[in-house]
Amino acid sequence: MFSRRRFLTSAGVASLATFARLPNVRAEQYDLLIKGGRVIDPARNVDRLADVAIANGTVAALRTNIAASSAADTVDVSGKLVVPGLIDIHTHAVREKEDAALCLADGVTSIIDAGSRGSDRIDEAVDVAKAAPSRMRLLINISKTGNDPNGELLDLDKVDVVATRKAIERHRDYVVGIKVRLSDFVAGKNDLQALKLAQTVAGPLNVPIMIHMGQSMTALPELLAVLKRGDIVTHLYSPPPNGIFGDDGMLLPAVLDARKRGVWFDVGNGLNKHLTWDVAERTAKAGFWPDTISTDWVPMGRADQIFNVGTVLSKFLMLGMPLARVIGCATANAARAMPAFKGLGTLAVSAAADVVVMELQEGRFQYVDNEHAIRTGRQRLVTRTTFKGGRRIAAL
Ligand SMILES: [Zn+2]
Repeated sequence: MFSRRRFLTSAGVASLATFARLPNVRAEQYDLLIKGGRVIDPARNVDRLADVAIANGTVAALRTNIAASSAADTVDVSGKLVVPGLIDIHTHAVREKEDAALCLADGVTSIIDAGSRGSDRIDEAVDVAKAAPSRMRLLINISKTGNDPNGELLDLDKVDVVATRKAIERHRDYVVGIKVRLSDFVAGKNDLQALKLAQTVAGPLNVPIMIHMGQSMTALPELLAVLKRGDIVTHLYSPPPNGIFGDDGMLLPAVLDARKRGVWFDVGNGLNKHLTWDVAERTAKAGFWPDTISTDWVPMGRADQIFNVGTVLSKFLMLGMPLARVIGCATANAARAMPAFKGLGTLAVSAAADVVVMELQEGRFQYVDNEHAIRTGRQRLVTRTTFKGGRRIAAL
């Protein structure tokens, strides 16, 4: 039975608590203060010690010496990096309901599932994306079956352009582009035709296509020629045949030309035939850096430390890419490459308060490529704390 006495008691406690906080209420203009870290916000060329203040789920201030008394809660991050919420534009995190939460705990506040599902199962995938704790969007596979280990494009009848178009129209806010895998084992001799069919859908709807390059039957320049401004090439470090280097050992002119035309080049670390140190080191030597750094995430890769996001970013420090540029590839650039994430990937005032606290560790760290070759780097980026919309995310 409801007790009047208990009601009075709890009400009394509540008002006492409210009263006790009163002296602070007026001074606390911020909900959270992330204090004393090295803030790297490549979108605005920021790389300096500063405090980040958060109010109502957005960045409210970024400057030095913000008083702790001005915030309800303060986190001291001295000696650590403070970067915008990471954006991973190539994952397969829609397959299990728990996957997005794992990525979020690693610092990925905005995430793309790149082609796990085609029109057959896109509605179900959209439901997963809607329920995800992070901002999850999808590229629909041009094959209605979605990713198929046996090759989703070996039979072109699996490309249903009408169903694909309708799926995008039905879920405009969640299905934000198209994925086409073009390797021999996926598409065989259909690679070029599948890509052209994908463009007939993507063009009129003005959405990007992401192609998975490497080991295709058609030569890469012929595939690149079909790409429009804003399209994305993932698996840039694929070993031959049909990687980004010509037989003369030079970067293909068509690759340089595609970048000039506004085509993005993405990493897509992955597990198999997508990244070898040989190709990555030659590419670095040629001064051709990726625009975006993505993981091609599946849970197995995270568990093995092959490609949680910190590990993949660290590989680029080892390859000689400057830290701010590495962070930029997973924040500012990723937001530019994926129009659905416009305005994210920055700590500008009034941006969403997606913030990641990372540690830049010094030591000896081993990194593997897709052939399990080992390289040793001197630095490692490790995610310590993630905030999404100003809310602290528990580590997983
Ligand atoms: Zn993939």
